[in-house]
Amino acid sequence: MTDSLFSGPEPDPAGDAGHEDAPPRVGFFTDTSVCIGCKACEVACKEWNALPEDGLSLTGMSYDNTGELGASTWRHVAFIEQSAPVSDPLATPTVPAPEGRTELTLATDSPPAGGDFRWLMSSDVCKHCTHAACLDVCPTGSLFRTEFGTVVVQEDICNGCGYCVPACPYGVIEQRPSDGRAFKCTLCYDRLGAGQEPACAKACPTESIQFGPLDELRERAALRVDQLHAAGVDGARLYGHDPGDGVGGDGAFFLLLDDPEVYGLPPDPVVTTRDLPAMWKHAGAAALTLAGGWALSFALPAMVRKRGRT
Ligand code: SF4
Ligand code: SF4
Repeated sequence: MTDSLFSGPEPDPAGDAGHEDAPPRVGFFTDTSVCIGCKACEVACKEWNALPEDGLSLTGMSYDNTGELGASTWRHVAFIEQSAPVSDPLATPTVPAPEGRTELTLATDSPPAGGDFRWLMSSDVCKHCTHAACLDVCPTGSLFRTEFGTVVVQEDICNGCGYCVPACPYGVIEQRPSDGRAFKCTLCYDRLGAGQEPACAKACPTESIQFGPLDELRERAALRVDQLHAAGVDGARLYGHDPGDGVGGDGAFFLLLDDPEVYGLPPDPVVTTRDLPAMWKHAGAAALTLAGGWALSFALPAMVRKRGRT
């Protein structure tokens, strides 16, 4: 059991949530270096979870026309279009394929006139945080920790209060405008219960999205980073894998090829309920001081009057 319910390393979130004999915690490792931006994961997620369409218009800003994660987009493949000098190792045409898989070209395009150009693709999702502020603040129990260590929102219990939305440090969970209820990735809780992998991981043709026991994924991810560094892709780094970070590590973590900010991810996320125990302590002390002052304001005049009579 962790020292604090709200922050710090937490080896057994399912057990601490009351699940006895819980199976090993599972999650996603998304290796963005092999993502080709096909969006099969987005489509599979929509199809399996019967999510409504969320706009068929083009953003006009990018080839990515989904935009962002939302109540009806539980997987979002970001296309990051950027200039990169030829000497940048990230702009090399190939990244080594993970063992046992086909060599793929890095998502680059022919350099347009006047400069070099590359695309970074990354399939984003709810991070299934070890310390999930969305769950901490939910007053109805709609958000809960499953026996697999994942975080799920139950649409039939959500009352639409919206507390979870500003609590999420990643801006993942969103209320559906039609009825105010909050939605996000469930890591296919129904499929896990039937012994199947989540729909997005099943559909991904390049195994950019890998599903499995979290410990195993973390080991696999570390080896992959070493492999990329050995190939000269110095910018490869893991994001959300560290149990010592501000959210106790993510259940869905990533291999990125550039800074998290480039992908629209916060560089140093912190669970927004981390300071709640300290705040309660301060609020308690303030209430006691106030009560003491109020009692004194009655007691003092009475004592003075008594002294005056004697
Ligand atoms: S990423 Fe946001 S919505 Fe997902 S578990 Fe963490 S706090 Fe909750
Ligand atoms: S299915 Fe795989 S390769 Fe295709 S966009 Fe999603 S993560 Fe990338």
